[in-house]
Amino acid sequence: MANKREPKYIFVVGGVISGVGKGITTSSIGKILQDRGLTVTAIKIDPYINVDAGTMNPTEHGEVFVLDDGDETDQDMGNYERFLNIDLTRINYMTTGRVYESVIHRERSMEYGGKCVEVVPHVPMEVIDRIKKAQSLAKADVVIVEVGGTVGEYQSVLFLEAIRMMKIETPNDVFTVMVSYLPVPSKIGEMKTKPTQYAVRTLNASGVQPDVIIARSDMPLDEKRKEKISFFCNVPRGRVISAPDVSSVYDVPTNFEKEGVSNLLCELLGLKCGNPVNEKITAWKRFTSAVHHPSGEVRIAIVGKYFDTGDYILSDAYLSVIESIKYSAYAQKRKPVLTWMSAVDFETGKKKLAELKKYDGVIVPGGFGARGVEGKIKVIEYVRKNKIPFFGLCYGMQLATIEYARNVLGLKGANTREVDPKSKYPVIDIMESQKENINSHRYGATMRLGAYPAVLKEGTIASTAYGSKTISERHRHRYEVNPVFIPELEKAGLVFSGRSPDGVLMEIAELPKKVHPFFLGTQFHPELKGRPLTPHPLFTAFVKACIKK
Ligand code: GLN
Repeated sequence: MANKREPKYIFVVGGVISGVGKGITTSSIGKILQDRGLTVTAIKIDPYINVDAGTMNPTEHGEVFVLDDGDETDQDMGNYERFLNIDLTRINYMTTGRVYESVIHRERSMEYGGKCVEVVPHVPMEVIDRIKKAQSLAKADVVIVEVGGTVGEYQSVLFLEAIRMMKIETPNDVFTVMVSYLPVPSKIGEMKTKPTQYAVRTLNASGVQPDVIIARSDMPLDEKRKEKISFFCNVPRGRVISAPDVSSVYDVPTNFEKEGVSNLLCELLGLKCGNPVNEKITAWKRFTSAVHHPSGEVRIAIVGKYFDTGDYILSDAYLSVIESIKYSAYAQKRKPVLTWMSAVDFETGKKKLAELKKYDGVIVPGGFGARGVEGKIKVIEYVRKNKIPFFGLCYGMQLATIEYARNVLGLKGANTREVDPKSKYPVIDIMESQKENINSHRYGATMRLGAYPAVLKEGTIASTAYGSKTISERHRHRYEVNPVFIPELEKAGLVFSGRSPDGVLMEIAELPKKVHPFFLGTQFHPELKGRPLTPHPLFTAFVKACIKK
């Protein structure tokens, strides 16, 4: 345990370019400090004006990660939860919009006692307040705060100012780690440190000096580069850390330890850290070894739509889905081979349904709006009839219900009101309480969000997988299975194996095992709770069914 007097704060900032692994660095630093017996929490700061990530386009911004308390946050929050195996709350996430909203709210309620409220210091003070609240809520020895973007951006300034202000107040408790990129221009063939030097100078201009530099690059840093960075960036040599690309992000904590990062941080923070906790290290080692030594493959197709601006960003919109598949597959000693299929291609005929036969299983993940819906329904019909394991997540479950209503019950034109408000058979309908939100354009943070309990029906795939009667899962949707159609759907063979405790809301729909090897959809998002060391039971049940096929 930490021999602690005061909690410590590590800010992680980006130099040169973003998207080079600041989130994974933050998560991994947290992980190795946890392994030394410290209590760690993590905070993500997104410098944009949006109050949360809920209204952002997933194709551009990536997945919206929902917390237990319903906060719609950035995908990095998912990385923290997965690496650190902790549940975070809305105090762990902030945006410029959210911070300003509170400052203005405080001002309107006279909380500044009639003072002139200024951008500096009042906005950074609000940021600091939130950071300290998160610390106290988690009783954390160490709080790691990731500042999104890079140090040179205008919109990061107030957050850098918060670091500066905290550092003046408690210089021995506040530290800054810069994650910087070292390019190797192909024509030159040499790793360049100059962009990092400039980034440090930019950070210096905000009154902040990095204590540690994590040097991200294609390859490891040599001594000469370490020396240069140390000399020009004013950071002792031992605090320049080489962080080359890795084949799996889950190797990053182990690689950091090869560079002695947890020792370095414990020393820097002035914390008496324990020896690495054996069980923790062993469990992680077992997991990463499974990542690298699979004994076969499992091929899964994901039929979605948030990847149409090019193959490069597709994985981001479905990050938790991918990670959850991985955990369950690795636990079964399989390497997951994922194929992305655009639902629209099944509508235009660009893709043939018969192609689905090549896969061990098919996932239809969450989504919004009409585009691609008919393609997804065709896919679901095909996998149902051909007994290919199917897992529907949220929209995927709603569309499976529609497919069943259309093709088994014979309700022609059955649909969700989201797509066809005039459908004769709205088997998926908007909740009464949601209508008002839509009518008055209140879209932000108004869906059914966060953790809700559900009760499982005995003897079903769901209850066998979970091994318990009640569960709690995270939600993010406005529409629900329309209660009017439930008796008919059940009579036709669809089993609602999970319901809200009052029995009104359908949480899981499935087909009996004797009819189909695995056909199951959830109204919630199980992928938000898959963790490396505790894979999600439904993903595991699905992957097992895929392997069997
Ligand atoms: N569009 C659907 C709804 O709002 C499903 C949402 C989702 O898949 N997250 O209910």
